[in-house]
Amino acid sequence: MISEFNRFFSSHSLASTYKPTLLKCLLDLGDYKEDEGSQWVKDTGDRLIVDLNFVAARFLRYYWPLRFKFKLKQEASGMRIAVYRILEKYDSKIGVKSTPPKNLMCSESLSELRKITIKDGIQPQVLGKLLNDCNIYSINRGRQTITIKKEIVDFMNANKKILESALNYMITKYLETINTHPNIAITLQEKINRTSLMQSDFAKIISGQKSRCFYCDCKGNAFAQEHFIPWNWITDTKNFNIVAACNTCNSSKNDKLPEDKFLRKIIVRNSNLTNIAYGYTTESFEKIYHECYNDYHGKDQPLWKPVQKNDDCK
Ligand SMILES: [Zn+2]
Repeated sequence: MISEFNRFFSSHSLASTYKPTLLKCLLDLGDYKEDEGSQWVKDTGDRLIVDLNFVAARFLRYYWPLRFKFKLKQEASGMRIAVYRILEKYDSKIGVKSTPPKNLMCSESLSELRKITIKDGIQPQVLGKLLNDCNIYSINRGRQTITIKKEIVDFMNANKKILESALNYMITKYLETINTHPNIAITLQEKINRTSLMQSDFAKIISGQKSRCFYCDCKGNAFAQEHFIPWNWITDTKNFNIVAACNTCNSSKNDKLPEDKFLRKIIVRNSNLTNIAYGYTTESFEKIYHECYNDYHGKDQPLWKPVQKNDDCK
């Protein structure tokens, strides 16, 4: 059984992220009784019979942030994979602004979404193919359920963290070949810590801006720590990417990229920062800005600018 996982991790070429993502879904079987979708798992003594709805709910959930939050490409050709197309079609039905919870993905209201994912994505594109590299389950007649030995489930449960890390590493390696996002490994984590700049460092930035909003120049006394290049792209908080912004600008900008004139402005600002974070160069910052423009913000979308100028912050 371990040899099957070794065989999988030694395989060098992935055609997509489907196979490691399907295995990530199966890792959840270890504690299926306490997890969402347990109605789709039948215990027969030494085996589990798993309805593919259990897998589809998780499969969709793993891809949701990659498609909508981090906007990662899954194929070099620019063609969208089936699961992205399905998510795009049903996004308003899922109807959330952040990674959908498991209970929503397992709910009756999304049964059609799961059914299409099984029929158009999982069954034709990964269910049988994965067995060539990692033979740990069998597909039952009708292809709606799989059977997996409990000893394999127990092994996956005992080694869940290690297997998950190894699978995420595989997915990262694949996605890095087709995306310019600077921090793909972070985007695959279940929980992502979004840190803030220390207050003393932020105070220096505010005083450098003479207590005026970086974007609209209004004067105020309470500012938000605003990620100049959107956090979803840079997934890190370093002083060279943080500006002090009024609430109006902060909420209006959200995850957009500001106009080029602000890039010039922050580069000058950064040349005056005395404690700039390790690794910064003007060239690398400009490069990340342009990659974000091309691959995240979108070349067809207008760059963000402040709505209006006020003397005092609102
Ligand atoms: Zn402002």
